[in-house]
Amino acid sequence: MIRFDIRKRDGLARSGIFQTDTISLKLPAALAVESLFPDLDMREGTNLPLCAPSALVKHYPPRNNGQPVTIHPHLENPAHSGDCVIVANWQVALSNPRNYVEWLIGLKEKTPVDTAWYAPATGLPSNVHILCYSGFDLFDFRAVDLKTAQMRFCTPEGEFLSDALESGICTCSGCKEKDLKMHNRQALLHEIALVTRFIEEYQLRDLVESRCRLNAAQVAILRHLDNQFRFVERSVPVARSGVMRANSGESLQRAEIRRFAERVISRYLPPKTDIAVLLPCSAKKPYSLSQSHRKFQLAIAGRAHELIVTSPLGLVPRELECIYPAGHYDVPVTGYWDAEECAVIAGILTRYFKQHPYRRIIAHLEGGALKVAQIAAEACGITLEYSCHEHPTSDAALSALDSALSGERRIKDDRLHGMISYQFNSDLDTKGITVRGHYPELFFSKKNVQIFSIDTGTGLLRPTFDGWNLLPEGYRVYIDDFIPEGDVLVPGVIKVDPGIRESDEVLVVGVRAYATGRAALSSEDIPRSSRGVAVRVRKIKRL
Ligand SMILES: [Zn+2]
Repeated sequence: MIRFDIRKRDGLARSGIFQTDTISLKLPAALAVESLFPDLDMREGTNLPLCAPSALVKHYPPRNNGQPVTIHPHLENPAHSGDCVIVANWQVALSNPRNYVEWLIGLKEKTPVDTAWYAPATGLPSNVHILCYSGFDLFDFRAVDLKTAQMRFCTPEGEFLSDALESGICTCSGCKEKDLKMHNRQALLHEIALVTRFIEEYQLRDLVESRCRLNAAQVAILRHLDNQFRFVERSVPVARSGVMRANSGESLQRAEIRRFAERVISRYLPPKTDIAVLLPCSAKKPYSLSQSHRKFQLAIAGRAHELIVTSPLGLVPRELECIYPAGHYDVPVTGYWDAEECAVIAGILTRYFKQHPYRRIIAHLEGGALKVAQIAAEACGITLEYSCHEHPTSDAALSALDSALSGERRIKDDRLHGMISYQFNSDLDTKGITVRGHYPELFFSKKNVQIFSIDTGTGLLRPTFDGWNLLPEGYRVYIDDFIPEGDVLVPGVIKVDPGIRESDEVLVVGVRAYATGRAALSSEDIPRSSRGVAVRVRKIKRL
């Protein structure tokens, strides 16, 4: 019995245990693959070029008996859940970024999710980060051994002439024994261990953004992949705890950043007011716990809707400031925004203001954020009011903000309504709902019954069963006729509502029980898997 138990996912990357009758292997891994698949060397038709035309592939179909199973862009999927699939010649794709992404998406779309992916003769210390990021899990020593034959010294930063062996760059046992082959193999194993660590801490993207700088093709792969937003977004959890580092230009295109902006524009429902104040962000998150935002809020005194203009997220309505990634991102702050940053963020503001017109918009901004607001205002034909041009926290600026709002009425603070619209795409009537707790750990109740609380790690709302009763549709996972004991596993799921992402709060609906919990897989990936957890259950209610 062959199977791949995925333990952790980080986008397309996974870590887990691959098991055959004789071997249990933690992936990602590199090994002498002959030990795992002894007859692979003898098998015919496993080496078709990726670019081979469809007619040729049909003429020379691979002999798929046993493991690993050959997959190819022009072949119907022959793999089942648990199989190890092999993509021959993937090293060629690495130097063709556009093809890399096109082939990858084609292959991933047709193959079950819980298959282990083997790229033969491809893995080097300088490329396994992007290979694992693309969803490959298994490598061999062929590529590093070839570098050894070419007298090349492998590092994660690239390959050097073999005299580097004695330069002190590395002090592994291979280097100590002046054994290039041993060093190159150890360098690959070391980098895979590091990549695995980043996957398990859900930060592989940050490592890839840093590692790819030394290789133009890898940067291009990352950018082409980001352009495939719909494909990538499905695999990215809707929320996490921990910091999201947005330290490179590519951060603007990260799926979670784009998804946040898309939802602010298309799902989010602002409070009923026609006056908005645009504010700068703060390094401290959530913003309202920072010194500067305390001052802004004191000056505004609830008389306007507060919108934070920030890079790379674009626009963060005050009610959403705790939600991932708004409450979690870390950026290098210089006050300078480059042209691409300005264009992308001005585009987000423009779309938002067209969707949600205000009678008055006061820009309490400086620098790049001010420039972006001006570009957006011009695009929408809005006349901005200004309460400062520099130093938004100065006494003069704060008192100008206060006077600009004199005569305006206090608006109802309805954080829950905004959060519900963003998270569940639902327009909840919040009449009679009360809130208690110490911000940001809030609990919402109706008639003294708790309905929602805020998960302070992710910033998302956690509905109770009574809370779910107020959300008429969506985010349901339907199960068979059983009472879950612990987590709901994939084989027990009959149907899933569309649009669910990993980490989304969901309601499990069965004939004999209901359960609240958090999705472990997207709506697209649950039907494409046959093992593993579908929903991490928090509470079960028998019917
Ligand atoms: Zn070494």
